[in-house]
Amino acid sequence: MTAPQAADVVVVGGGLIGTAIAWQLRLTGRSVVVVTGERSAAASGVAAGMLAPVTETTFTEGALLALNQASISQYAGFVAQLEEASGLPAGLRRTPTLSVAGNSDDAAQLAALAAYLDRLGLDCERLTSRECRSYEPLLSPTIRSGLLVAGDWSCDNRLLWAALVEASRRAGVLEVPGFVHQVESEHGRVSGVVLADGTRWMTAAVVLANGAWAAQVGGTPPIPVRPVKGQILRLDPVRMPPPSLTIRAFTAGQEVYLVPRDSGREVVVGATVEQLGFDRRVTAGGVYELLRDARQVLPVTAEYVLSETSVGYRPGTPDNAPILGPCELDGLLLATGHYRNGVLLTPVTATAITHLVERGTLPEVASGFTLDRFASDRLAPDGSAQDGSAQDRLAPEQLAPSGSPDPPPAQASATRGTT
Ligand SMILES: Cc1cc2nc3c(=O)[nH]c(=O)nc-3n(C[C@H](O)[C@H](O)[C@H](O)COP(=O)(O)OP(=O)(O)OC[C@H]3O[C@@H](n4cnc5c(N)ncnc54)[C@H](O)[C@@H]3O)c2cc1C
Repeated sequence: MTAPQAADVVVVGGGLIGTAIAWQLRLTGRSVVVVTGERSAAASGVAAGMLAPVTETTFTEGALLALNQASISQYAGFVAQLEEASGLPAGLRRTPTLSVAGNSDDAAQLAALAAYLDRLGLDCERLTSRECRSYEPLLSPTIRSGLLVAGDWSCDNRLLWAALVEASRRAGVLEVPGFVHQVESEHGRVSGVVLADGTRWMTAAVVLANGAWAAQVGGTPPIPVRPVKGQILRLDPVRMPPPSLTIRAFTAGQEVYLVPRDSGREVVVGATVEQLGFDRRVTAGGVYELLRDARQVLPVTAEYVLSETSVGYRPGTPDNAPILGPCELDGLLLATGHYRNGVLLTPVTATAITHLVERGTLPEVASGFTLDRFASDRLAPDGSAQDGSAQDRLAPEQLAPSGSPDPPPAQASATRGTT
């Protein structure tokens, strides 16, 4: 058996969240190891890359909105620093998002969202059908109305991730392939990690950033994270014109989005939302419905080439918000549960965890997202949090203990549309 090695910090998981944290922590002068897991399984390489605090907001997620807004306000600076450090483009695209409605029911839903955004004082511009088509001439003439949100951008998450990996390598982060099997502790304090191959790293600080797999590492308190499957497509316009804006649509009661990249060679179409555990299957129904709805909104997509189908696992939590910061095990720091906003939340998560390691506290904006909000004495009888941090109602399947078996197919549900 080889002797254990040591690092100031061990980060578990090399997706966007783990890599960004490792890079930022390394810049503070600490020695940092990232145990990468399986990169091809990461949601970070599958996501659409919308940075959409406004169009993504729902009536029940006020605390999350503030965190999402904090992150987008950091984005341009974060990307500038990253591009300089890595020498690579990080894929930020500062074009607006256009939400559109297909029929009169969809228009009513969009109007309700617009009224809610008004009440929150968030910037959005209501558009007629004609105005929508002046912004995006490829839209179907059947589109009824729209909402333009200038501050909702996108980022090519694959470019962002590649730049983060390069920047962290250049900064001196050590990448270790493999899986952390167990967090070790002595007297209530983290003392190291053991990998699945038996390798041991000694450390006083472990950052758990392994996304949808967060509940699977031994030696940690129970972490209420579950995988939420998403099927997503990539289309290549080839010689046809791509849309210029990110388009989100309500169409016949379904939601679909189309996210173009700067290259003009990729439009991401998503996504299903399925409670099926770690199910890897791309289904005919999933692909069919996404293509059908995309064509309904943007008829030209029927001429595009279907270049990729993929599946990813959003790290879901009972209130759809991430779990950030310390927990009852001293030295174990959590950075997981980013659900449908992990690309958006990458900068604020990296800065919050770095702040925590440097100064011992989370910044104010992240302080409501610690694991203890799920403690049973802080939940109201209906399962919602009493302090406002966890604002969604818990569905019965969300109350199942983390790491519990996947629901049987008869209970598994598939809905559509959010990231
Ligand atoms: C279809 C889809 C569309 C999405 N669209 C958007 C979007 O438009 N905008 C947005 O902001 N977000 C979006 N998301 C959400 C976003 O992708 C995730 O929130 C984010 O990628 C989570 O990043 P992560 O680094 O925490 O996890 P991941 O990217 O999943 O990475 C976790 C890594 O940890 C590794 N790992 C697992 N167990 C271990 C272990 N024991 N030891 C070491 N490593 C381990 C895994 O192999 C994996 O590589 C989308 C997600 C999906 C699925």
